[in-house]
Amino acid sequence: MAKKKMILDLDTGVDDALAIAYATAAPDVDLIGIVASYGNNTLDICANNSLKLLELLGQTQVPVYKGLPHSSTSDHFDVMQVSKDIHGNNGIGEVQLPEPKRQVEKESGVDFFIEAAHKYGKDLIIVPTGPMTNLAAAIEKDPEIVHLIGNVTFMGGALTVEGNVTDVAEANINQDAKAANTVLSSDLPQTMVGLDVTLRTLLTKKETQKWRDLGTKAGKAYADITDFYIDAYYNLDIDKNGCALHDPLAVGVALDPSFVTTIALHMKVNYGDKNYGRTIGDNSRLNDPNPNVNVAVNVDKDRYLKQFMSYLTGLFEKH
Ligand code: CA
Repeated sequence: MAKKKMILDLDTGVDDALAIAYATAAPDVDLIGIVASYGNNTLDICANNSLKLLELLGQTQVPVYKGLPHSSTSDHFDVMQVSKDIHGNNGIGEVQLPEPKRQVEKESGVDFFIEAAHKYGKDLIIVPTGPMTNLAAAIEKDPEIVHLIGNVTFMGGALTVEGNVTDVAEANINQDAKAANTVLSSDLPQTMVGLDVTLRTLLTKKETQKWRDLGTKAGKAYADITDFYIDAYYNLDIDKNGCALHDPLAVGVALDPSFVTTIALHMKVNYGDKNYGRTIGDNSRLNDPNPNVNVAVNVDKDRYLKQFMSYLTGLFEKH
Protein backbone atom coordinates (compact mmCIF):
# COMPACT_ATOMS: atom_id res chain seq x y z
CA MET A 1 0.00 0.00 0.00
CA ALA A 2 1.28 3.46 -0.92
CA LYS A 3 2.04 5.59 2.09
CA LYS A 4 -0.20 8.60 2.68
CA LYS A 5 1.47 11.99 2.51
CA MET A 6 0.73 13.92 5.67
CA ILE A 7 1.18 17.55 6.67
CA LEU A 8 0.65 18.51 10.30
CA ASP A 9 -0.39 22.10 11.08
CA LEU A 10 0.61 22.51 14.72
CA ASP A 11 0.69 25.09 17.50
CA THR A 12 3.20 22.95 19.37
CA GLY A 13 2.06 22.43 22.48
CA VAL A 14 2.21 19.24 24.55
CA ASP A 15 -0.45 17.27 22.68
CA ASP A 16 0.96 18.55 19.38
CA ALA A 17 4.29 17.05 20.51
CA LEU A 18 2.49 13.73 20.96
CA ALA A 19 0.96 14.15 17.49
CA ILE A 20 4.44 14.55 15.98
CA ALA A 21 5.53 11.34 17.69
CA TYR A 22 2.47 9.42 16.47
CA ALA A 23 2.92 10.59 12.87
CA THR A 24 6.63 9.74 13.05
CA ALA A 25 6.03 6.27 14.43
CA ALA A 26 3.09 5.18 12.24
CA PRO A 27 4.42 2.95 9.45
CA ASP A 28 1.77 3.88 6.88
CA VAL A 29 2.50 7.59 6.65
CA ASP A 30 5.10 9.82 5.06
CA LEU A 31 5.25 13.03 7.12
CA ILE A 32 6.19 15.52 4.38
CA GLY A 33 6.15 18.66 6.49
CA ILE A 34 4.96 20.56 9.52
CA VAL A 35 3.33 23.96 9.18
CA ALA A 36 3.57 26.10 12.29
CA SER A 37 0.70 28.06 13.73
CA TYR A 38 0.23 30.37 16.69
CA GLY A 39 -2.08 29.10 19.46
CA ASN A 40 -0.65 27.31 22.48
CA ASN A 41 2.22 29.78 22.10
CA THR A 42 3.44 32.34 19.56
CA LEU A 43 4.15 31.31 15.98
CA ASP A 44 7.93 31.51 16.47
CA ILE A 45 7.97 29.43 19.65
CA CYS A 46 5.58 26.84 18.19
CA ALA A 47 7.76 26.52 15.05
CA ASN A 48 10.90 26.20 17.17
CA ASN A 49 9.27 23.56 19.38
CA SER A 50 8.48 21.47 16.30
CA LEU A 51 12.11 21.74 15.13
CA LYS A 52 13.38 20.72 18.58
CA LEU A 53 11.05 17.71 18.82
CA LEU A 54 11.86 16.50 15.30
CA GLU A 55 15.55 16.64 16.20
CA LEU A 56 14.91 14.72 19.43
CA LEU A 57 13.16 12.03 17.38
CA GLY A 58 15.84 11.91 14.68
CA GLN A 59 13.45 13.30 12.05
CA THR A 60 15.56 16.12 10.67
CA GLN A 61 14.43 15.33 7.13
CA VAL A 62 10.97 16.73 7.90
CA PRO A 63 10.80 20.43 6.92
CA VAL A 64 9.04 23.00 9.13
CA TYR A 65 7.26 25.97 7.54
CA LYS A 66 5.96 29.06 9.27
CA GLY A 67 2.30 29.92 8.84
CA LEU A 68 0.58 33.13 9.86
CA PRO A 69 1.21 34.83 13.23
CA HIS A 70 -2.42 35.68 14.07
CA SER A 71 -5.99 35.47 12.77
CA SER A 72 -7.16 37.66 9.89
CA THR A 73 -9.67 39.30 12.23
CA SER A 74 -6.95 40.53 14.60
CA ASP A 75 -3.67 42.43 14.19
CA HIS A 76 -1.79 40.56 16.89
CA PHE A 77 -1.84 37.45 19.04
CA ASP A 78 -1.28 37.15 22.77
CA VAL A 79 -0.78 33.76 24.40
CA MET A 80 -3.65 33.09 26.79
CA GLN A 81 -2.70 32.51 30.44
CA VAL A 82 -4.60 29.21 30.42
CA SER A 83 -2.38 27.99 27.55
CA LYS A 84 0.71 28.71 29.65
CA ASP A 85 -0.89 26.95 32.61
CA ILE A 86 -1.65 23.82 30.56
CA HIS A 87 1.41 23.64 28.26
CA GLY A 88 4.01 25.59 30.27
CA ASN A 89 5.53 28.97 29.38
CA ASN A 90 7.62 27.35 26.63
CA GLY A 91 4.75 25.23 25.27
CA ILE A 92 6.44 21.92 26.05
CA GLY A 93 5.90 21.55 29.78
CA GLU A 94 8.96 23.62 30.81
CA VAL A 95 11.23 20.85 29.50
CA GLN A 96 14.44 22.34 28.12
CA LEU A 97 15.45 20.75 24.82
CA PRO A 98 18.61 21.78 22.90
CA GLU A 99 18.18 24.63 20.40
CA PRO A 100 17.62 23.08 16.96
CA LYS A 101 20.47 22.99 14.46
CA ARG A 102 18.03 23.62 11.61
CA GLN A 103 15.99 26.68 10.64
CA VAL A 104 12.43 26.88 9.33
CA GLU A 105 12.04 26.81 5.54
CA LYS A 106 11.93 30.05 3.55
CA GLU A 107 8.66 29.15 1.81
CA SER A 108 5.50 30.07 3.73
CA GLY A 109 3.31 27.35 5.20
CA VAL A 110 0.35 28.68 3.22
CA ASP A 111 2.20 28.23 -0.09
CA PHE A 112 3.45 24.81 1.00
CA PHE A 113 -0.17 23.67 1.46
CA ILE A 114 -1.05 24.86 -2.05
CA GLU A 115 2.04 23.29 -3.63
CA ALA A 116 1.47 19.96 -1.85
CA ALA A 117 -2.22 19.89 -2.85
CA HIS A 118 -1.26 20.19 -6.52
CA LYS A 119 1.60 17.72 -6.21
CA TYR A 120 -0.02 14.92 -4.19
CA GLY A 121 -3.78 15.44 -4.70
CA LYS A 122 -5.88 12.67 -3.16
CA ASP A 123 -2.83 11.10 -1.47
CA LEU A 124 -2.49 14.19 0.73
CA ILE A 125 -3.89 14.32 4.27
CA ILE A 126 -3.69 17.55 6.22
CA VAL A 127 -4.04 17.41 10.00
CA PRO A 128 -4.54 20.83 11.63
CA THR A 129 -4.43 20.66 15.41
CA GLY A 130 -4.43 24.39 16.12
CA PRO A 131 -6.25 27.40 14.66
CA MET A 132 -7.24 26.97 10.98
CA THR A 133 -5.80 30.33 9.90
CA ASN A 134 -3.17 28.81 7.57
CA LEU A 135 -5.45 26.39 5.75
CA ALA A 136 -8.16 29.05 5.33
CA ALA A 137 -5.57 31.42 3.84
CA ALA A 138 -4.46 28.69 1.41
CA ILE A 139 -8.09 28.10 0.33
CA GLU A 140 -8.60 31.83 -0.20
CA LYS A 141 -5.41 32.09 -2.25
CA ASP A 142 -6.15 29.00 -4.37
CA PRO A 143 -9.78 27.84 -4.02
CA GLU A 144 -9.15 24.86 -6.35
CA ILE A 145 -7.24 23.00 -3.62
CA VAL A 146 -10.48 21.98 -1.86
CA HIS A 147 -11.13 19.62 -4.78
CA LEU A 148 -7.56 18.27 -4.84
CA ILE A 149 -6.70 17.42 -1.20
CA GLY A 150 -7.61 13.87 -0.15
CA ASN A 151 -8.72 14.64 3.38
CA VAL A 152 -8.43 17.14 6.20
CA THR A 153 -8.75 15.56 9.64
CA PHE A 154 -8.65 18.29 12.25
CA MET A 155 -8.66 18.48 16.03
CA GLY A 156 -11.20 21.07 16.98
CA GLY A 157 -14.81 21.86 17.67
CA ALA A 158 -17.54 20.34 19.79
CA LEU A 159 -20.84 19.05 18.44
CA THR A 160 -22.44 16.94 21.17
CA VAL A 161 -20.63 18.40 24.18
CA GLU A 162 -19.92 21.90 25.49
CA GLY A 163 -16.87 23.91 24.47
CA ASN A 164 -13.76 24.31 26.63
CA VAL A 165 -13.28 28.07 26.22
CA THR A 166 -16.92 29.12 26.30
CA ASP A 167 -20.09 27.04 26.55
CA VAL A 168 -20.00 26.54 22.79
CA ALA A 169 -16.42 27.15 21.62
CA GLU A 170 -13.49 24.75 21.61
CA ALA A 171 -10.04 26.38 21.94
CA ASN A 172 -8.65 25.87 18.40
CA ILE A 173 -11.84 27.07 16.74
CA ASN A 174 -12.11 29.95 19.21
CA GLN A 175 -8.72 31.34 18.11
CA ASP A 176 -10.03 32.02 14.58
CA ALA A 177 -13.67 31.09 14.07
CA LYS A 178 -13.84 32.85 10.70
CA ALA A 179 -10.98 30.74 9.34
CA ALA A 180 -12.57 27.60 10.77
CA ASN A 181 -15.80 28.49 8.98
CA THR A 182 -13.91 28.94 5.70
CA VAL A 183 -12.54 25.41 6.06
CA LEU A 184 -15.59 23.62 7.49
CA SER A 185 -18.09 25.16 5.06
CA SER A 186 -15.84 24.44 2.06
CA ASP A 187 -16.13 21.33 -0.15
CA LEU A 188 -13.00 19.78 1.39
CA PRO A 189 -13.52 16.16 2.52
CA GLN A 190 -13.08 16.47 6.29
CA THR A 191 -13.20 14.60 9.55
CA MET A 192 -13.81 16.57 12.72
CA VAL A 193 -12.11 15.15 15.79
CA GLY A 194 -13.49 17.40 18.49
CA LEU A 195 -14.03 17.38 22.22
CA ASP A 196 -16.83 14.85 21.64
CA VAL A 197 -14.14 12.19 21.34
CA THR A 198 -10.81 13.65 22.47
CA LEU A 199 -11.98 14.08 26.06
CA ARG A 200 -12.59 10.33 26.16
CA THR A 201 -9.04 9.26 25.31
CA LEU A 202 -7.05 9.80 28.49
CA LEU A 203 -3.40 9.15 29.23
CA THR A 204 -2.06 8.68 32.77
CA LYS A 205 1.32 8.66 34.51
CA LYS A 206 1.20 4.88 34.41
CA GLU A 207 1.79 5.11 30.67
CA THR A 208 4.34 7.93 30.77
CA GLN A 209 6.35 5.98 33.35
CA LYS A 210 6.81 3.27 30.71
CA TRP A 211 8.50 5.84 28.47
CA ARG A 212 10.73 7.08 31.31
CA ASP A 213 11.71 3.50 32.13
CA LEU A 214 13.11 3.08 28.61
CA GLY A 215 16.07 5.24 29.72
CA THR A 216 16.31 6.99 26.34
CA LYS A 217 16.50 10.75 25.75
CA ALA A 218 13.17 10.90 23.92
CA GLY A 219 11.48 8.59 26.40
CA LYS A 220 12.51 10.77 29.34
CA ALA A 221 11.75 14.08 27.60
CA TYR A 222 8.32 12.96 26.43
CA ALA A 223 7.48 11.56 29.88
CA ASP A 224 8.43 14.90 31.50
CA ILE A 225 6.59 16.98 28.88
CA THR A 226 3.43 14.89 29.20
CA ASP A 227 3.54 14.70 33.02
CA PHE A 228 3.44 18.52 33.14
CA TYR A 229 0.24 18.33 31.09
CA ILE A 230 -1.25 15.56 33.24
CA ASP A 231 -0.49 17.63 36.38
CA ALA A 232 -2.14 20.69 34.78
CA TYR A 233 -5.25 18.66 34.00
CA TYR A 234 -5.33 17.61 37.64
CA ASN A 235 -4.56 21.00 39.20
CA LEU A 236 -6.94 22.97 36.95
CA ASP A 237 -9.60 20.34 37.54
CA ILE A 238 -10.01 19.64 33.81
CA ASP A 239 -9.80 15.91 34.48
CA LYS A 240 -8.51 14.14 37.59
CA ASN A 241 -8.01 10.84 35.75
CA GLY A 242 -5.48 11.83 33.09
CA CYS A 243 -4.85 14.15 30.14
CA ALA A 244 -6.80 14.19 26.89
CA LEU A 245 -5.01 12.98 23.78
CA HIS A 246 -6.54 15.70 21.59
CA ASP A 247 -4.02 16.13 18.79
CA PRO A 248 -2.58 12.60 18.50
CA LEU A 249 -6.14 11.25 18.24
CA ALA A 250 -6.65 13.39 15.13
CA VAL A 251 -3.51 11.85 13.59
CA GLY A 252 -4.72 8.37 14.53
CA VAL A 253 -8.14 8.95 12.98
CA ALA A 254 -6.59 10.46 9.83
CA LEU A 255 -4.74 7.16 9.30
CA ASP A 256 -7.45 4.81 10.59
CA PRO A 257 -10.95 6.33 10.52
CA SER A 258 -12.36 3.14 12.10
CA PHE A 259 -11.20 4.39 15.53
CA VAL A 260 -14.29 6.63 15.56
CA THR A 261 -17.95 6.57 14.61
CA THR A 262 -19.12 9.64 12.76
CA ILE A 263 -22.16 11.63 11.65
CA ALA A 264 -21.93 13.06 8.13
CA LEU A 265 -22.99 16.72 8.01
CA HIS A 266 -22.63 19.99 6.16
CA MET A 267 -20.98 22.08 8.87
CA LYS A 268 -20.48 25.75 9.63
CA VAL A 269 -18.83 27.79 12.38
CA ASN A 270 -20.48 30.82 13.94
CA TYR A 271 -18.10 33.79 13.85
CA GLY A 272 -20.47 36.65 14.60
CA ASP A 273 -21.44 37.87 18.06
CA LYS A 274 -23.89 35.05 18.73
CA ASN A 275 -22.40 31.69 19.79
CA TYR A 276 -18.91 32.67 18.60
CA GLY A 277 -16.88 29.58 17.74
CA ARG A 278 -19.72 27.08 17.74
CA THR A 279 -19.27 24.19 15.26
CA ILE A 280 -22.73 23.15 14.13
CA GLY A 281 -24.67 21.63 11.23
CA ASP A 282 -25.61 24.14 8.52
CA ASN A 283 -29.41 24.41 8.41
CA SER A 284 -29.34 25.99 4.97
CA ARG A 285 -27.72 22.82 3.54
CA LEU A 286 -29.57 20.19 5.56
CA ASN A 287 -31.13 18.70 2.44
CA ASP A 288 -28.09 18.99 0.20
CA PRO A 289 -26.74 15.60 -0.85
CA ASN A 290 -23.27 14.28 0.01
CA PRO A 291 -22.36 16.04 3.25
CA ASN A 292 -18.56 16.43 3.35
CA VAL A 293 -17.72 16.60 7.07
CA ASN A 294 -17.66 13.40 9.11
CA VAL A 295 -18.00 14.49 12.71
CA ALA A 296 -16.60 11.97 15.20
CA VAL A 297 -19.06 11.33 18.04
CA ASN A 298 -17.70 8.15 19.60
CA VAL A 299 -14.27 6.51 19.85
CA ASP A 300 -12.90 3.04 20.47
CA LYS A 301 -10.62 4.44 23.15
CA ASP A 302 -9.13 1.13 24.29
CA ARG A 303 -8.01 0.15 20.80
CA TYR A 304 -6.72 3.66 20.13
CA LEU A 305 -4.75 3.86 23.38
CA LYS A 306 -3.19 0.47 22.65
CA GLN A 307 -2.08 1.66 19.21
CA PHE A 308 -0.86 4.99 20.63
CA MET A 309 1.29 3.29 23.27
CA SER A 310 2.62 0.70 20.86
CA TYR A 311 3.72 3.39 18.36
CA LEU A 312 5.16 5.88 20.84
CA THR A 313 6.93 3.37 23.08
CA GLY A 314 8.45 1.72 19.99
CA LEU A 315 9.66 5.11 18.76
CA PHE A 316 11.10 6.25 22.10
CA GLU A 317 12.97 2.96 22.48
CA LYS A 318 15.09 3.99 19.49
CA HIS A 319 15.75 7.62 20.42
CA1 CA B 1 -2.65 21.85 19.17
